[in-house]
Amino acid sequence: ESGRRGLVIGNWKMNGSRVANLDLLTALKERGPWVAEVAVCVPTPYLADVALSLQGSGIAWGAQDCSRHESGAFTGEVSAPMLAEFGCRYVLVGHSERRQYHRESDNDVADKAKIALAHRLTPVVCVGETLAEREAGATEAVVKRQLSAVIHGVGHCIAQIVVAYEPVWAIGTGRTASPEEAQAVHALLRGQLAAATVHARDMRILYGGSVKADNAAALFAQPDIDGGLVGGAALDAQGFSAICRAA
Ligand code: PEP
Repeated sequence: ESGRRGLVIGNWKMNGSRVANLDLLTALKERGPWVAEVAVCVPTPYLADVALSLQGSGIAWGAQDCSRHESGAFTGEVSAPMLAEFGCRYVLVGHSERRQYHRESDNDVADKAKIALAHRLTPVVCVGETLAEREAGATEAVVKRQLSAVIHGVGHCIAQIVVAYEPVWAIGTGRTASPEEAQAVHALLRGQLAAATVHARDMRILYGGSVKADNAAALFAQPDIDGGLVGGAALDAQGFSAICRAA
């Protein structure tokens, strides 16, 4: 048995408004604390508001992406040091929506993880196969390739990352991996981490993809599932809090 603390991260994606966010966070703060660690990854324009609301609450916050560059002529991008300045603990890197809609490569994702770590942010490295890849029997090869790029990119810092396994076919679809299907991939990922660091047993591997209050407990009961990365269900304080309680 390891002493891994559960972790639940809400990914708000491109949702919210200043007023709605404060309502959501107020309701969430009323429902905590939880045994698990809890964080929300919010759209970058809201970071200052969110930091103010969550300061001292025990709930951490973060962003959904960062640039692979430190600074410079990269119009529209947001850097890791900027996120650090707003008190972010986490930054998602390689979310499937970034890989799909913004053509982020495994190397881009590795660079982002590396620059996040350099600024003391914890990168939450998202990996996962598409439906076509699963049906082709390529799940293991795909997630291994995605994680391998990050392992090689960040070197001995690998123990500092969080991994999120998010099968693309389960994201926003209402279709979750079964606890056993997810556990099989998590065990594989932990094995891959163990080949790279002696700290693999202490690292958190989250499951993401249509996690809801009613399926969270069964997923989190699996030995290598240490919590969740939650999209849609993170926009409702009651539901999200129930997921946090299950971790
Ligand atoms: C996500 O976007 O990381 C995610 C898991 O979304 P959902 O929970 O809505 O499937």
